Amino acid sequence: MRPVIAATSTHSTPDTRIVGLRPPKPLVDAWKAHGALIEQERSPTGGVERAVTVFLAGAECPFTCSFCDLWRYTLDGPTPAGALPIQLARVLQEIEPPLPTRLKLYNASNFFDRRAVPQQDVPRLAELARPFAAITVESHASTIGPMTLEFRALLSGRLEVAVGLETIHPIAIEHLNKRLELSRFDQAADFLARHQIDLRAFVLLGAPYVPAGEMVEWTTRAVEYAAARGATRIAIIPVRGGKRQRRARATPAPWRIRSTHAGTIGVRTRGVPRDQIGCRDRGSLGWRTPARL
Ligand code: SF4
Repeated sequence: MRPVIAATSTHSTPDTRIVGLRPPKPLVDAWKAHGALIEQERSPTGGVERAVTVFLAGAECPFTCSFCDLWRYTLDGPTPAGALPIQLARVLQEIEPPLPTRLKLYNASNFFDRRAVPQQDVPRLAELARPFAAITVESHASTIGPMTLEFRALLSGRLEVAVGLETIHPIAIEHLNKRLELSRFDQAADFLARHQIDLRAFVLLGAPYVPAGEMVEWTTRAVEYAAARGATRIAIIPVRGGKRQRRARATPAPWRIRSTHAGTIGVRTRGVPRDQIGCRDRGSLGWRTPARL
């Protein structure tokens, strides 16, 4: 069995059970990003912007959510110091001008977990991000705090943090092993709003333990919940596997376009931003549904 990484959590029975069900982890090169994707997506104001997403290779997320397969794209140990700036610089060199408006740094974990993003690399990452007008990083709500402000202070562009709300179904929340109470999401959303940092929320369609007949309703509720707490973009992530996923595909899509006061609602696969309906996914990178914070 693979060792569980415990930067901000300890071994627990659910962690051990979930990790025990995983197949072997593919080999990941700490010095090479998994890839990058340039696409158009909705801007927080409802327009369209070009964004480049860089899929960084780094330490595994400590939260071990039951529905998440991002661990497949992570290292067994901490991210080596210096690796992320090298990964990012190499990707950015390949981008032909003009640069996209937004840079998304997705590290398959939490940007503010210093086991995943070493402290000494933060200034260089911010320097590399300086040409972009907007920067998005991903984080569990529990790791949003002073380090978020430190990073923002180094940027010239506007910061957005992508946070997985996933679901507000009371039973599903208990079983996802995300260790995210709604009050903690609320605190993180409030913290970001008070510091003029944008919030992008991820919501699952067909979260485990949500009855199939209720999944659209609970997804809608979660979207509305995130929007009410200031999320300017909400990405709906269909959950892979079993009846739920098949039913999700068969659902005649009343959930696809729904008006709320959030700037944008999109659909994406986990690990694969699909912040516009119909946007391509990251299949070429090997990311699967669902797999993303
Ligand atoms: S969904 Fe997010 S918080 Fe949960 S294990 Fe995956 S990366 Fe970590």
